[in-house]
Amino acid sequence: MTNQTHSLDLSLVIPLFNEEESLQELVAWIAKVCDAHNFSYEVLLVDDGSKDKSWSVIRELAAADKRVKGIRFRRNYGKSAALNAGFEQAQGEVVITMDADLQDSPDEIPGLVEMIRSGNDLVSGWKQKRYDPITKTVPTRLFNWATRKMSGIHNLHDFNCGLKAYRNEVIKNIEVYGEMHRYIPVIAKWAGFNRIAEKVVQHSPRKYGTTKFGLERFVNGFLDLLSITFVSRFGKRPMHFFGLLGTFSFLVGFGIAVKLAVDKYFFQVYNMTDRPLFFFGMLAMILGTQLFLAGFLGEMIARNAPDRNRYQVSESTNI
Ligand code: UDP
Ligand code: MG
Repeated sequence: MTNQTHSLDLSLVIPLFNEEESLQELVAWIAKVCDAHNFSYEVLLVDDGSKDKSWSVIRELAAADKRVKGIRFRRNYGKSAALNAGFEQAQGEVVITMDADLQDSPDEIPGLVEMIRSGNDLVSGWKQKRYDPITKTVPTRLFNWATRKMSGIHNLHDFNCGLKAYRNEVIKNIEVYGEMHRYIPVIAKWAGFNRIAEKVVQHSPRKYGTTKFGLERFVNGFLDLLSITFVSRFGKRPMHFFGLLGTFSFLVGFGIAVKLAVDKYFFQVYNMTDRPLFFFGMLAMILGTQLFLAGFLGEMIARNAPDRNRYQVSESTNI
């Protein structure tokens, strides 16, 4: 563990998109909780290209209180981008993310800080009792089950909970892009941060406005899970995936071709091309070559990636 010192106890990173009604209430509530616990803190409000008055509300709040900081995107880039921008700025020893819509309660802050200080890298909220429509809660269960299976993080029930806490070092060493905010625990685990815990948190119905995500979240979420799994396992060595499959497929096809040839020349079984096996063998050889080529191309791309030799160093000595 590194012994960095941080200027603040706590950074709250809050991505928001058209949430003008709730911001003031949220910031006041955070101040109340943090002051009661004597936390020095900053609130990073990241306006993800809102079309309503969110930004002018943020400016007013920031003018009234120096601990409130705002970042405004020129257009809507998505929640992951907003989180990433907030993470870049965060100075607190503990970094907490929360949604801006008052569905997550600031009263959870002290408990989360406590859990990070006792040694966890990441603590994820679990909305055990949720206040969301059934069209969302049922697919979410499926999504969480699949993510647990694929990531090997068995102790989390609710990967996509907006309320999470991190040790500062964790968020400075991971990158959240695309729509990967659903998988931050997975990204953190693959970056080598293993102490991942869960805390049951209060959840409330949305007070103002409407949800910013539709049902397409589940399709996108599933595709993201596939690509994040693939990239983390084979991103640096694509040939090990495609090459293996390609070689296997080619050898099967080649074996079939040999068998057909032997049949023809030694056992006088003619009409090779009338046999279904012939087409299967040909297909397997062509597919195998293609897969092999894909692996080869992937390898050339990986070789040129600027971060091909970037590794996570947790400690060093006498360097
Ligand atoms: N959000 C964002 N950019 C977007 C969509 C959402 O910053 O493109 C924010 C949103 O303002 C909220 C949080 O992400 O603070 C969670 O969104 P929402 O409450 O709509 O999601 P849900 O609670 O329905 O999962
Ligand atoms: Mg919400």
